[in-house]
Amino acid sequence: MSDNSNLQAPNSNLNLTERDQKVIWHPYTQMKNALPHIPIVRGEGVYVFDDNGKRYIDAVSSWWVNIHGHSHPYIAKKVAEQLSVLEHVIFAGFTHEPAVLLAERLLKILPGKQEKVFYTDNGSTAVEVALKMCLQYWDNKGTPKTKIIAFKNAYHGDTFGAMSVSGRSIFTDAFNSLLFDVEFIELPNEDNIEDLKSKISALQAEVACFIFEPLILGSGGMLMYEAEYLDQLISACKHANILTIADEVMTGFGRTGTYFACEKLTNKPDIFCLSKGLTGGTMPLGVTTCTNEIFEAFLSDDKLKTLYHGHSFTANPIACVASLASLDILLKSETLQNIKRIEAKHTTFLKEIKSHSKVKAVRQTGTIIAIEWETGNETSYLSTLRNLLYAYFLDKGIILRPLGNIIYILPPYIISDEDLDYIYAAIKSALEEV
Ligand SMILES: *Cc1c(COP(=O)(O)O)cnc(C)c1O
Repeated sequence: MSDNSNLQAPNSNLNLTERDQKVIWHPYTQMKNALPHIPIVRGEGVYVFDDNGKRYIDAVSSWWVNIHGHSHPYIAKKVAEQLSVLEHVIFAGFTHEPAVLLAERLLKILPGKQEKVFYTDNGSTAVEVALKMCLQYWDNKGTPKTKIIAFKNAYHGDTFGAMSVSGRSIFTDAFNSLLFDVEFIELPNEDNIEDLKSKISALQAEVACFIFEPLILGSGGMLMYEAEYLDQLISACKHANILTIADEVMTGFGRTGTYFACEKLTNKPDIFCLSKGLTGGTMPLGVTTCTNEIFEAFLSDDKLKTLYHGHSFTANPIACVASLASLDILLKSETLQNIKRIEAKHTTFLKEIKSHSKVKAVRQTGTIIAIEWETGNETSYLSTLRNLLYAYFLDKGIILRPLGNIIYILPPYIISDEDLDYIYAAIKSALEEV
């Protein structure tokens, strides 16, 4: 082909937002009345910049992934080096240093005795693999159990298995009849913990596993609960021969103040799901880890006991190298100090605003805070309020995406005190003006 004119954008008289509108279908977006999508041309630290040079503080770490901020020079350098060494290789029959080294390093820092790593390429598939591991574990043992316990407002991803173990919501509405049956339980607290434990032991003959987001349910509205009660639920599961899956896709890699939320537990889960912060937000990658007890149930001369699951981009070397670089940064004492600094500033801020008349509730777990807006009983007001708040912060150069009437901050760990103060001030003025 000597003529490359058809490689050029056919609508080059239009700006990027207009071209986008002609060809792109965006996630979680009603395209009928979507606001114009803002073209981002560059990222640096906690900031992204649009095509007019306007700067935005990424206060939600771009859907919770950019734990070290954007275009981190150290991660960029490692990724660039790997690109010209080995960009990809089929991961069945072959292996490579980045995948093995990352597995070694992850297993060392994960709580409990995690011994095997299974790679995928996002959080939903990390969850799919965890569910398959549990269901097939019981099948392989010759004592099939097919029920799963999950929390009512859980979010574990958008593929069918992950949707099934997520709370039924507007996200799942069109598919509810096709989702498999799950035993949903309330978040544990002082009042219901004994009931929940009884329920678990009553269901033990049927239940394969219990999947949970430890300490905080993200998409469900940043709903938080105490480690003590999760500990008791895991303990009840262990007594009832029910496997436990910690979905640390959001909470992993420092979010909750410790490297993993499950560090705060005495009883450790059998399986971990990781993604989001894993690569520092640079590349997609998912990880499911398990104990030897689970792994060994798949070892057999019987081919049917194999875990038949895999993705084309399983253990992509570039994504593994990005993860290794992100881990290097995470494990620096400076990063932990930043996490503690954010945590302390958040606490002070929440104290200041919690008795404001428009604040219904405030919550914090580590570097995450959530502020629930008082809406009275007007549910129809919710979506309007959400859009008003979103636009208000955007105008001030802050990316915050409220979940309904819940504003949350989930910043990159490198965010400065000044930028945090700017976000807090914007929230305070929103409380007066919106
Ligand atoms: C985001 C999320 C997922 C899904 O991850 P994707 O990479 O978006 O598929 C699963 N579990 C939890 C807890 C999450 O926050």
